[in-house]
Amino acid sequence: MSQSEMTLTDKWLEFYRRYLRDEIGELALSDEASLPVDLQEVFSYDRDLYEDIRDSPEQMREYAEEALRQYDLPADVSLTSPRVRFYNTNETHTYEVGAYSTGNNGSGGQVGELIGVTGQVNKRSKKRTRLVTAVYECLRCGTTTEIPQEGEDRQEPHECEGCERQGPFKLDTRRSTYVDDQQLRLQLPPEKAEGTSDENIDVTLEGDLVNSVEPGDRVNADVLLDLREKKDGSTLFQFVAEGQHLQVEESDFSEIEPSEKKLEQIHDIAEGRAVRGHHRQHCPVTPGARDAQARDRAAVVRRR
Ligand SMILES: [Zn+2]
Repeated sequence: MSQSEMTLTDKWLEFYRRYLRDEIGELALSDEASLPVDLQEVFSYDRDLYEDIRDSPEQMREYAEEALRQYDLPADVSLTSPRVRFYNTNETHTYEVGAYSTGNNGSGGQVGELIGVTGQVNKRSKKRTRLVTAVYECLRCGTTTEIPQEGEDRQEPHECEGCERQGPFKLDTRRSTYVDDQQLRLQLPPEKAEGTSDENIDVTLEGDLVNSVEPGDRVNADVLLDLREKKDGSTLFQFVAEGQHLQVEESDFSEIEPSEKKLEQIHDIAEGRAVRGHHRQHCPVTPGARDAQARDRAAVVRRR
């Protein structure tokens, strides 16, 4: 590891001690699979580090995860390798679906950056199982070789580490490791899509993000933006994204999250009965207005 790499890992260690001591402690005691890192906290801690994350999110995540592995924990607890998830991208780096660009004259725009994308979940694929590390067995000498997988085409060993021949190899499915994987399509919410085309973007999710949102949810997604050719060798490209963190936005009715007692009261009011356990003198609204309000609420509740 070079000097500058040391510095980055050390920076992360210091950041963890200062901002996420409790969270990391909890992480070690639970079986949570990821550590959310608030980018606004990183921003207050070190502006350069924040910019580095936005420009090279993948690389910075590796440093952050390496520091997490080195983090001092009480002797009786240990961290399996949790994933670091950056979230809370600055508003100035948050875009509606379709609003990011490739920039002009090779500036790259937002391609390769960590950005926020707001939109509505249009659909999600079934949960899939993706190979992360393939274990291959040489059929000549029985030696096994681990091959980390990237992209969609499976990588095989070039040469056996034992007998130095080119196989043949057999994939050992039981000893290989996998991760949950899902494809999410985000689109502009209907009120914003009016008059425009069906702007959308596919976001790949993995691990604990799989099945965390549903069609219809409005989300604020922190993603790594990339371009993918529409088909092999084509000059036509489309934006794709790798999900880092997902936050479901509160729905319009979320403040009306009535307790069971409240529901009973709303029901009573709607049925024109006296309200049980409700102290009228505490309520600043006139009775008539309150009833109308309650009727509205009851209507809202029934619609949910
Ligand atoms: Zn061999």
